[in-house]
Amino acid sequence: MQRGREGLPAILLVVVAMGVFGLAVFINARPTESIQPIIPTEFIPTDDPLAWQAVLQAGFGSNSTPLPTIAIPTASFVPPTLAGSSDTNLIPIPPAQVADDLQPTLNAIVTATRPAATPTLLATDVQVTEQFVTRPPADWNPPPLIPPISRDPLGRDHYWFLRPVDSNATNFALFSYAFGSDGPQQENPWRVHHGIDMPNPIGQTVRAAGSGAVVWAGASFQDSPSYGNVVVIQHDFGYYGQPLFTLYAHLSGVLVAAGDFVNAGDPIGLVGNTGRVSGPHVHFEVRVGENKYRATYNPLLWMVPYVGHGVIAGRVSGPRGVLLQDQNVTIRDRRTGLVVQSTTTYIYLDSGSDVQADPLWQENFVVGDIPVGRYEVITTIDGQRVSKIIDVLEGMTSFVDLSLEQVATPIPPTTSP
Ligand SMILES: [Zn+2]
Repeated sequence: MQRGREGLPAILLVVVAMGVFGLAVFINARPTESIQPIIPTEFIPTDDPLAWQAVLQAGFGSNSTPLPTIAIPTASFVPPTLAGSSDTNLIPIPPAQVADDLQPTLNAIVTATRPAATPTLLATDVQVTEQFVTRPPADWNPPPLIPPISRDPLGRDHYWFLRPVDSNATNFALFSYAFGSDGPQQENPWRVHHGIDMPNPIGQTVRAAGSGAVVWAGASFQDSPSYGNVVVIQHDFGYYGQPLFTLYAHLSGVLVAAGDFVNAGDPIGLVGNTGRVSGPHVHFEVRVGENKYRATYNPLLWMVPYVGHGVIAGRVSGPRGVLLQDQNVTIRDRRTGLVVQSTTTYIYLDSGSDVQADPLWQENFVVGDIPVGRYEVITTIDGQRVSKIIDVLEGMTSFVDLSLEQVATPIPPTTSP
């Protein structure tokens, strides 16, 4: 009995010690909590007006039905095929600058007996290395180049920003609603687009395109309900002495507050469908000089291209250099004959808040994400097919001027029989 009584505390001690040991083992054996992206799924009440729950509630509401203004295609882009050109409207390229595999064709063009135009100057003297890069599948992208880059020999390029969403997300601009366009419909055109749209699922991380200070984070941006939840960053670098801003709209969640400093690539929000949209996407703007709607410039001339890709910018103009608006421009791969992209020229409403052309390029259309190679840029002016051949180089803008006057410029007759 006595032994038993003395033994009881000892047993208790052993039991307690085993319990403590077991607890310690259990705690250490638990997997460390992995960091998951915050994807809002339900409303959780909070006092913080910038918490994503509050932002989400404000944006969606319980019975929210955002007004449809743009249609987000669900299918991937399929370039249309275009009737082959007769080549009679092609503008010859100086043979010295022509890659070997294209030489016979282009020589034929050069010696064609027709009134032709002055030779097209390629964007640069840099020799083109042919890279037969095809459009990547939707679930794969080459890596972006590292901004800032400015490879143009005359310093006109300013690819200073990252894309606002990751490479494995949809981070190219929606073709059907290009910057400066009013969408694909002839009837009921949309508002002229002051940014580019990247359709992505709600919750996809939106990232700072460059470093700087958050100057807006939340709804009611500039008293407009259209943008939904918005983040605006004023960058800690400028452009020719002017401040630079990037804007990210329709967010479902805002992850920063005004006054925060962010680095390029930092998460700042989540893709959503707040404001006037018909589907979730991020609307991305670049503003130069002032944080105003009228100070928006084409983001395709600011977002860094992918490895092996470049950008085509150009002007379509009529008599006396008057810019032609809402003109179709088609980009056709010279090697495959396939159309790789099409767009329309900027629309100006003379409302005092039009989109802006780049101060140096003075373009009225831009297409991005063009694989390095040789392309024909085609438009129609006064019912006449006008086109030029252009080489796209990696990480650079290739500029093309399309006008009737240039096409009509005569050249001396050839001496061939
Ligand atoms: Zn947009």
